[in-house]
Amino acid sequence: MNLNHPITYIKGISIARAELLFSELRVKTCKDLLHLFPFRYIDKTQFYSINQLQRNTAEVQIVGKITALKTVKQKRGSRLVATFQDATGAMELVWFKGAKWIKDAIKKDTTYVIYGKINWYNGIANMPHPEMETVQDYKSKLQSAMQPVYPSTEKLSNKGITNKVLRGYMQSLLQQSVGIIEETLPSYLLSEYSLLDKKEALLNIHFPKSQETLTKAQFRLKFEELFFIQLQLIQKKLLRKSKLKGFQFSKVGENFTEFYAKHLPFTLTNAQKRVLREIRKDVGSGAHMNRLLQGDVGSGKTIVALLTMLLAIDNGYQATIMAPTEILAIQHYNGMISLLKNTSIRLELLTGSTRTKKRREIHESLENGSLDILIGTHAVLEDKVVFQNLGIAIIDEQHRFGVAQRSKLWQKGGLDDNGKVIPPHILVMTATPIPRTLAMSVYGDLDVSVIDELPPGRKEIKTVHRYDSNRLGVFKFLKDEIAKGRQVYIVYPLIQESEAMDYKDLMDGYESISREFPTPKYQISIVHGQMKSADKDYEMERFSNGETQIMVATTVIEVGVNVPNASVMVIESAERFGLSQLHQLRGRVGRGADQSFCILLSSYKLSSDGKTRLETMVKTADGFEIAEVDLKLRGPGNIMGTQQSGILHLKIADIVKDNAILAQARVSALQILQEDPNLGDPKNEILLMVSNQLRKNTAIWSNIS
Ligand code: ADP
Ligand code: MG
Repeated sequence: MNLNHPITYIKGISIARAELLFSELRVKTCKDLLHLFPFRYIDKTQFYSINQLQRNTAEVQIVGKITALKTVKQKRGSRLVATFQDATGAMELVWFKGAKWIKDAIKKDTTYVIYGKINWYNGIANMPHPEMETVQDYKSKLQSAMQPVYPSTEKLSNKGITNKVLRGYMQSLLQQSVGIIEETLPSYLLSEYSLLDKKEALLNIHFPKSQETLTKAQFRLKFEELFFIQLQLIQKKLLRKSKLKGFQFSKVGENFTEFYAKHLPFTLTNAQKRVLREIRKDVGSGAHMNRLLQGDVGSGKTIVALLTMLLAIDNGYQATIMAPTEILAIQHYNGMISLLKNTSIRLELLTGSTRTKKRREIHESLENGSLDILIGTHAVLEDKVVFQNLGIAIIDEQHRFGVAQRSKLWQKGGLDDNGKVIPPHILVMTATPIPRTLAMSVYGDLDVSVIDELPPGRKEIKTVHRYDSNRLGVFKFLKDEIAKGRQVYIVYPLIQESEAMDYKDLMDGYESISREFPTPKYQISIVHGQMKSADKDYEMERFSNGETQIMVATTVIEVGVNVPNASVMVIESAERFGLSQLHQLRGRVGRGADQSFCILLSSYKLSSDGKTRLETMVKTADGFEIAEVDLKLRGPGNIMGTQQSGILHLKIADIVKDNAILAQARVSALQILQEDPNLGDPKNEILLMVSNQLRKNTAIWSNIS
């Protein structure tokens, strides 16, 4: 027997069943089946008494006697109902099938051990089709303490592959293969972490001897799973660093130094300085940089981007920065124009709405090298956009790139002496803090920099939650703030599934706000996704230079928009927004010297998650803390960046709950690879073998976002 054999080698598995197990559970080989782990266990060491049963009690084991039996007629056929009693109370056992046979078999006033699912009907607990045996029989058998429950599907159980059947397969598989299960971790790791060996772990994960060995088996298998992911991610990163050539920005030149000395409008925070050092080290090394820069809203990522671009220019390269929306690209452009106004650096803006003539000029100046910095949207990726020598591409606010787009970006780099493409350095900036746990796993092969410090003098944004019924009070507050010269955002949800309805909400809201805040005293801007971009810009412009006091908008203003005089953010139907969205929106205020406010409006009807989200927003302004809550609420699958990673296909570990194990696994993997990058040391032979195998079978593939 070989574990790579198909599962038809196991007693009782026909070809048809094997096909079903593959299509439903992706189980093909004996090894796959061994690694189909139970997702819970039935604890048959535990007995319940009837008065302990509760609404949410699942499967239970009870000792008692049958005191009465009756047959109840129903529409079709009849059902058999038994009264089952223990010292604490009574419940019912119900059979819909085989009533006659059971009626004959049951002995009254005999003590039974029953086992099954609890339902409730008219306030009485009942157990349909219980498993039952007499106490004598029960005692005469060796009870395995805990029984595994495997993932299943309706199709499987309909075709007779019930949990019991799966358990049987597992039993025969383990019996057949116990001698050939090979260890997958080196012995020094087993002893360092006191891990069960592989065979013991597999035996106990399927048929645990006790809760204690189960815990050990789980730890061992989770550790192993996370360890090999980390090993591969870190190896990939080391490989990229050693193999992939990048442009070398070896000097800090005039542009950088002069700007730093004369035009920098503030002193950099320590975090900004640290990140710049990290970037400089990367781009100076001759290897390719692929770095993720995380920094909460308002932490000052833009200036870091600008200084990095100056570094490129100082070394004879061009630079580009891409933003996800036109509004944001324009804002970057305006901001950078004003920062660079007393320098000789040339920059241009390229978006979908750039006129043909201008576009041609830009293309030309990029190709002949007279343009230093190109700021734009996705338009930058078009084939027609050819750089003379693009040294770095900065991607702001994290839009995800598909493979095709990514390759377009890489192709925009230069060629080395052998005609091989050298991609531009990549810096991805995101204000969506990625929980540390996730960053470690998903971006394990990217370098990550974090700006974890806000510029000095920021006042905390006061955040409150109000119900819709307090709306008048909120309006009064807005009027007072506007009277002080402040500006206000009012944001409506726009969620794709119900776009038409949301759009109506927005328009209704706009109307009622127009009534509440009449012209000429108040001027209102409105921006939403269905407007032409020229109209959006016009409205943004009016708000941004203070002609209007109120901006009614959908989440199009979520990212990046910077109007320092706006100090109040009102979010309508706040319960409908995700946490990270709420956090981004709140980040639109608090950018000036004034005390800022965020008012979350909601209806009284709140789901428990909705409530947690609003409470979290009121409680904390720390983006990382918010991200951790978000991760717990939504699970890793919904957090950006996880889709393409191997992380979601974990068989046993849970990256949220098991993040302590993850951290240990990462440290080990890192230590091992630092000592022995190619795993050539005999003591690591096993690791080399297993990771080669894994590489063949799985895909933990990197993503620059
Ligand atoms: P984000 O990280 O959200 O992109 P920005 O780069 O837009 O943040 O910076 C937010 C604001 O903080 C800008 O107005 C910027 O000029 C200002 N800022 C950035 N760094 C500093 C600093 N070190 N000291 C003071 N103000 C700063
Ligand atoms: Mg920004």
